[in-house]
Formats: sequence, C-alpha cells, structure tokens
Amino acid sequence: MKQVTREQAEDLMIDNDCNTVESMAREGDLSYLSDIFYGGFKGYSDYTNAELEAEHLEVFETEISIITDGYMCSNCGGGFNKDEMVFDENNDNDFCKDCAE
Ligand SMILES: [Zn+2]
Repeated sequence: MKQVTREQAEDLMIDNDCNTVESMAREGDLSYLSDIFYGGFKGYSDYTNAELEAEHLEVFETEISIITDGYMCSNCGGGFNKDEMVFDENNDNDFCKDCAE
C-alpha cells in the first residue's frame, strides 16, 4: 500500500479531475462540469482521510494509506513530525517551519 500525506492524496484527486475536465472539454463535452454545477461538489479538503482513501481506490484502483501519525501543516497540508512544526496555542493554525516563516 502506498503511503501518502493528505496533501498528496488531495493533489492526486484534483489533478485527475482537472485532467478529466480538460480532456473532455477539448472534445466539446462539458457534461462533467455541468454535473458539478448542477449537483455541487464537496471539496477534497472536506473529505475525511477514510473518504479520500476510498475515493482513491474507486478512481485509481490503487490502495493508499494517508499518513496520520505526526502533524499536519494547516497551510501546505503536508505531514510532519513534532520537531518540524510550529504550534499555535490560540487556534488550530499549526504550521510546518517552512510555512510559519
Ligand atoms: Zn507547511
């Protein structure tokens, strides 16, 4: 099973959707976009890890495991260990050291 960060899992889905829209639109088929405008779309940032993993399995037919130990940067979404994070005590905006600068 492939281990990925949450950010990587989201990016793979987004890239895939963009490619789908682009390639269909190039052939004059806007049905995929129309469906989204009609029914709405739940952003991948609102998916739980389990939902993202299930979506990957359905779309790519590959099993992924989102790295849940460690901490996630609120800005870039990457996974980090405690030493690589800067914690904000007042709210949940914890950033990796790169994003905190
Ligand atoms: Zn970051």
